Amino acid sequence: MNRPLDLVFVTSADRADRLPDSRVEVAIVGRSNVGKSSLVNALANRRNLARVSNTPGRTRLLNLFALGTDRGADGALPATVMDLTGYVYAKSSKTMRASWGEMIETYLLERQPLAMVVVLVDGEVGPTKLDVQMLDWLRANDLPHTVVATKHDKVKSSKRQRRKRDLADGCDLEPGDVVWVSAAKGTGIDRLRGLLRSWLS
Ligand code: GDP
Repeated sequence: MNRPLDLVFVTSADRADRLPDSRVEVAIVGRSNVGKSSLVNALANRRNLARVSNTPGRTRLLNLFALGTDRGADGALPATVMDLTGYVYAKSSKTMRASWGEMIETYLLERQPLAMVVVLVDGEVGPTKLDVQMLDWLRANDLPHTVVATKHDKVKSSKRQRRKRDLADGCDLEPGDVVWVSAAKGTGIDRLRGLLRSWLS
């Protein structure tokens, strides 16, 4: 049994160079509504750590959480989780989309403690074009990443095997490479807590 992650909200920033130092960081990316807030809350076993909302495209910021807050002599946080809020959809203007893309890219390419990028894919709908673009971009830039498929409970058990294969195929992965979770039912949460702890150690 992996204990809930003791995550505390540290800060939001609109630029990567305004973030506090950390020794090791995991970033979580995914389109709006993929289930990111629900997952972060489930990992921490908290109700409202990350706001659960159905509204796509809410404030686009870099939201930083810390696992433990004892800073070292240099002031760096021991381990952090970066919530990169949802990919932007058609509702926002082209400029917003471009500047958001730039902010994410700068963060992912320049954030020194970044050890793993968790790419959330909606298990109910499968990888979107944007998810695939993100994966291609991470591969092209040699950034370590892991695909986590959300909403496991929303896939009928009779269709799960097929869906697991199709989702992995769509991400150009083997089924065993994808971590399936359900924030609603708790499926896979324990395993993902363990993985996060290992990436953050
Ligand atoms: P975010 O925009 O990525 O932060 O997504 P949210 O966490 O706000 O979730 C989007 C919607 O999906 C909400 O209506 C959630 O209740 C629902 N949702 C999230 N995770 C799960 C899950 O594991 N199972 C089910 N059935 N619904 C989920």
